[in-house]
Amino acid sequence: MSDPRELYQQVILEHNKKPRNFGRLEPCTHRAEGNNPLCGDQLELTLFVKDDVVEEVRFQGHGCAIDVASASLMTTTIKGRRLEEVQLLADQFRAMVRGELDPAKEPNLLGKLSLFQGVRDLPVRVKCAVLPWATLHSALAGEDHASTE
Ligand code: ZN
Repeated sequence: MSDPRELYQQVILEHNKKPRNFGRLEPCTHRAEGNNPLCGDQLELTLFVKDDVVEEVRFQGHGCAIDVASASLMTTTIKGRRLEEVQLLADQFRAMVRGELDPAKEPNLLGKLSLFQGVRDLPVRVKCAVLPWATLHSALAGEDHASTE
């Protein structure tokens, strides 16, 4: 368990098998679909935002283990947070998977999400991990579609 790679594998497998916040919110205040043609990942994200706080968030779709685990962990992390924190998290997550931020050395809000640092060594997988965050960005910006291409 002390090996970060082992923990990463376990978290991915576990969230892939039992995704959190899976489904669709009705009604919702924000919604977007995202796809990653490179891998075939597709997801739909619905959010209920009130007073600048993410009160509820759900996702559904199909994708690879990294995409589903990333979406699942994203929803558990942003639920209950203020939009400005969510934006900061999105920026930090992207920077981390691109190798521009080392969560062990720089202050950040990532918490459990820092497990995804491992994908920066797998360029093809970076898009899978980022897709839920790109879709979130679109949803909050009022766009209905996000693509990693
Ligand atoms: Zn994928």
